[in-house]
Amino acid sequence: MLSRAKNFLLEIIFPIHCVGCGGEGEWLCENCAHKIQLNSQQFCPVCWQANLGGRICARCSSPLDGLRVAASYQKNPELAHAIQTLKYKFSEPLAANLAAILARSISSKNYQAERIVVPIPLHKKRLRWRGFNQAELLARFVSSKLNLPFAHGLVRTKNTAQQAKLSRAERIRNLAAAFELAPDFSPQGKTILLVDDVASTGTTLIEAAKILKQNGAREVWGLVLARK
Ligand SMILES: [Zn+2]
Ligand SMILES: [Zn+2]
Repeated sequence: MLSRAKNFLLEIIFPIHCVGCGGEGEWLCENCAHKIQLNSQQFCPVCWQANLGGRICARCSSPLDGLRVAASYQKNPELAHAIQTLKYKFSEPLAANLAAILARSISSKNYQAERIVVPIPLHKKRLRWRGFNQAELLARFVSSKLNLPFAHGLVRTKNTAQQAKLSRAERIRNLAAAFELAPDFSPQGKTILLVDDVASTGTTLIEAAKILKQNGAREVWGLVLARK
């Protein structure tokens, strides 16, 4: 709450400019959000071989059935900037515009079954320090844009060290048992859309998917803005 109030005051003193066009009033205006080029190709979330829809390839196995990466960091510097901004600023308009990019990247795909949008949670200590979870902001807007139910399906039980600084093997060890199913949530027979801002190696999404699958989820897909 405190960080929200602080952001609000800062925005009055230092006006916000769009990271794309420099226009005043928004971090990423709708116009610039629309110019972001969506990935035409997706990748297997385990071996990262290119494929069409992002479904896990026949050679690999994982509790994560597929991953949609909306756009490329390299090709869209304004997206990279916007993602970075959302990490540190609680901005609902920015989250809404980024969520529209996420929604665009999967709206062409036909999903059957009941889908539920679930954010990758932050540990409560990190949440208290940061004031909000950017993945949750994105997931809430994705759920309203796609007209799908939202759920806090997972709880982060371990305050994991910064993943970016670790090797792949260390990341997996670091994330083991990092998630738990949220009380009162049942993914039984459901297709879960796990939302995060970015994916790097995919281990966070895979660890989260493992818990959902152990509790009966039919399919688990990841949905992220970009791959770091
Ligand atoms: Zn703009
Ligand atoms: Zn693969």
